[in-house]
Amino acid sequence: MWKRGKRDDNPRRVRHTRRSTRTTRTTRTTRTGDARPVEPLPLELCDLCAVTFPREEAVCGYVPDSSSVHRTNEWFDGLRLITACCEEHFAVVRDRYRGRPFVQEELWAAKIDRALTSGTAVLTLTQLGCRTGLHEPEIRRAIAWHNEHLHQDLWP
Ligand SMILES: [Zn+2]
Repeated sequence: MWKRGKRDDNPRRVRHTRRSTRTTRTTRTTRTGDARPVEPLPLELCDLCAVTFPREEAVCGYVPDSSSVHRTNEWFDGLRLITACCEEHFAVVRDRYRGRPFVQEELWAAKIDRALTSGTAVLTLTQLGCRTGLHEPEIRRAIAWHNEHLHQDLWP
């Protein structure tokens, strides 16, 4: 049985959700006195220092991470997108992920979790297999791994 749990409770860990912040729409009075709406600037948030900065200045890249699956595109499963304010901060975050073990069962568990928490309800092991692309032995190993590591974390 799949135990529900909050596995992502390590404060050192970078959060999964892509935070794309937008400034609130404001109006600016021009020199001629017209109040015109100003387009909100898309902002990014550094995964290390949490500073916000314009999206075009972001240093981004993918790192291997078995705890990360993409919400909709399974091609990105096992990869995490890092966003940083500068090359140095990108390197720090990247090196943290390099020190984290890549565990196949963890990736399968993340795929199962996505299947169980999105779309229509999954009722059988066969449905779960169809939804995740995993075979039954892999699903069983993933469930065992998930339940065993529910309250642990893999950071060195
Ligand atoms: Zn930074």
